[in-house]
Amino acid sequence: VAQSTLRMFMRYDRQAVERKKHQLSLSQALHSAIEQDQLFLHFQAKFDLHKQALSGCEVLVRWHHPEFGIVSPSLFIPLAEQQGQIIEIGYWVLKQAFQALVNWNKKGIHIGKMAVNISGRQLMEPDFIEWVKHHLTQHGVNAAQLEFELTETFLLENFDDCVNKLKVLSELGISIAIDDFGTGYSSLAYLNKLPLNVLKIDRSLIADVESNLQTQSLVANIVRLAHDLNLRVVVEGVETMDQLQLVQQMGCDVIQGYFIARPQSEQGYIALLSSAQSQ
Ligand code: C2E
Ligand code: CA
Ligand code: CA
Ligand code: CA
Repeated sequence: VAQSTLRMFMRYDRQAVERKKHQLSLSQALHSAIEQDQLFLHFQAKFDLHKQALSGCEVLVRWHHPEFGIVSPSLFIPLAEQQGQIIEIGYWVLKQAFQALVNWNKKGIHIGKMAVNISGRQLMEPDFIEWVKHHLTQHGVNAAQLEFELTETFLLENFDDCVNKLKVLSELGISIAIDDFGTGYSSLAYLNKLPLNVLKIDRSLIADVESNLQTQSLVANIVRLAHDLNLRVVVEGVETMDQLQLVQQMGCDVIQGYFIARPQSEQGYIALLSSAQSQ
């Protein structure tokens, strides 16, 4: 084998080892992330295409590690799911979200629903529903201001276990969204058996909706079927005016993406709301 090839392999190997090491230290660091107050929330606005107004937000967790910097949730959430810390993180996120809602209500800031991502593992916790009920009351949060986002993959893989839990949450007044739709089975047949209010089309479909005619007809079909089932359609990952116009033509109800707003701090989000209101 040529020297250069060998060197290349060794480099790859070293990179793989470094990655593993990094993952290991991340997973150790994750244990203390909550304790050491390293997690915080960002809020990303949603925009209602019919009302042409901001209509709520999605809560996105962030982890600021003193050494690693900001660690992406697409890295640490799967890790937390594997290691079980997702339960603690999930409850932390919900508490913070409730607190933010209460603060905004006090300030007279009323803006649609606040959507929170719920890990499937969290939903499966035996006392999840009791926890939610208890903390809604304790914080004085109106369930109608909340939306829970659960991924398509999880819902369809754990269909029977989910249905009843989601029904209870739905009866409490919490809106239920199926997230990342179009990446998994995309089995529309199941949709009407779940107590859903919202269908969120995954960002990956929007990324090539302009250039790929097949994706275009897929998205159009998803929108039509979702509307037949009385679901509101949220499109995530809208980055351009062209994408906005395209999904608007297809009848999507709400968009979310950098074109409207990036995820930002509570302060930044409130500033955005007040500038939108004064327009
Ligand atoms: P998600 O639920 O699909 O959230 C949307 C992701 O897309 C967010 O990434 C958001 O920052 C990003 N995004 C929004 N608009 C655009 C856009 O126009 N262009 C591009 N390129 N990206 C956009 P983020 O914040 O990195 O979160 C990644 C994933 O981590 C989330 O995907 C969600 O699955 C998970 N996650 C985040 N926060 C939580 C949480 O509190 N609990 C749980 N269980 N999962 C969370
Ligand atoms: Ca989400
Ligand atoms: Ca999503
Ligand atoms: Ca996604």
